[in-house]
Amino acid sequence: MKVIQDIDIKDKKVFFRVDFNVPLDELQNITDDSRIRAVLPTLRYALDHQAKLIVASHMGRPRGKVVPELSLGLVAKRLGRLLEKEVIVANDCVGPEVNQLVSKMKVGDVVLLENLRFHQEEINNDDTFAKALAELCDVYINDAFAVSHRINASVAAITKFAPVSAAGFLLQKELNYFEQAMSAPMRPLVAIIGGAKVSDKLGALENMLEHVDKFIIGGSMANTFLYCSGLDVGKSTVEADLKDVACAVMKMAAEKNIKFYLPVDVVVASRFDPKAEAKIVPVQEIPPEWMALDIGPATSLLYSEVMYDAKTIIWNGPMGVFEMDAFSRGTTAMVHSIANSYALSIVGGGDTDVAVHKSGETSRITYLSTGGGAFLTLMEGKTLPAVAALNATT
Ligand code: ADP
Ligand code: MG
Repeated sequence: MKVIQDIDIKDKKVFFRVDFNVPLDELQNITDDSRIRAVLPTLRYALDHQAKLIVASHMGRPRGKVVPELSLGLVAKRLGRLLEKEVIVANDCVGPEVNQLVSKMKVGDVVLLENLRFHQEEINNDDTFAKALAELCDVYINDAFAVSHRINASVAAITKFAPVSAAGFLLQKELNYFEQAMSAPMRPLVAIIGGAKVSDKLGALENMLEHVDKFIIGGSMANTFLYCSGLDVGKSTVEADLKDVACAVMKMAAEKNIKFYLPVDVVVASRFDPKAEAKIVPVQEIPPEWMALDIGPATSLLYSEVMYDAKTIIWNGPMGVFEMDAFSRGTTAMVHSIANSYALSIVGGGDTDVAVHKSGETSRITYLSTGGGAFLTLMEGKTLPAVAALNATT
């Protein structure tokens, strides 16, 4: 895979595909600009190397139509402040006006194209659209790790048409950290898998079986494993149809001598509601009408002991319904255990990322990924389609 440092970008029009899909509140304020900050090293490098910067991103899910609330105008302002430079916003990402704007660019100029997903062709990985984007530039740089699991025009098809294609620093960093943890990890290597569904994470579980020394399970996933261990989990969410699959994963882990940790206690609630009555019970005593919404304190303590001994940790998926305060303690405790460990820790996942930010421990995690789906794809042991597209050009 070509990387930006291998390419002469002086005086060149360089197209940066980034992920500026930042969260906004109801007043359209950016609530977290980490995604913009994450690509600053790449953009600053390009400015230092006297390039012309064309920056492109998506925002939200406009489904191929212009949705004014999903314009990148506000993002341009924030980017301008962070770069301490004027950022010119294009009124679209392709078309005659954009071509004209780009043709007049001087070295050091920064143009932010409008939301790529205002065009359905982006999602459809359309060749004509990808070609139109590619024709804006001399060099194409993918620095959008978080979208690199998607087969979209601006990360996949575009590499067929751009004169040169390469990876930016963020994409390189994401891939390198993950590779470091998987190919020759310091052991014990512990994978912590939580979150909503076994079905979402099955590929990751199966691939991780080939690598890890220990598995730690939390979240609503754990219910399915407890259920297949023969426990009654009451009204907890269970994927009953995956009982056999979950059993097979545990059996495989046992055969490979992988330590497999399940919760020993849980926080149960009478309903799925932040105000619901809640209590802590051993997993053997989940009342029939109640549901498990978080791991319990004994489990947090048990898991923290495993973290203490770990040398490499990969974590995806919250331990409970962390969005509700009453069921957030297991996830927060997990963040602290990882932060306090001596391990190289790599954490990823859309909701997991939110949980880590909420706990204020971002700086004590070795590497917090900017990817959700892309991170999970790496955990599944697959090559990201956008990375394959970059590789195909070299
Ligand atoms: P990520 O986005 O980090 O990959 P997931 O999307 O798989 O994580 O899972 C996060 C979701 O799982 C959260 O919305 C959380 O509320 C939910 N969740 C976690 N534990 C439970 C539980 N015990 N019961 C119901 N939902 C849960
Ligand atoms: Mg999620």
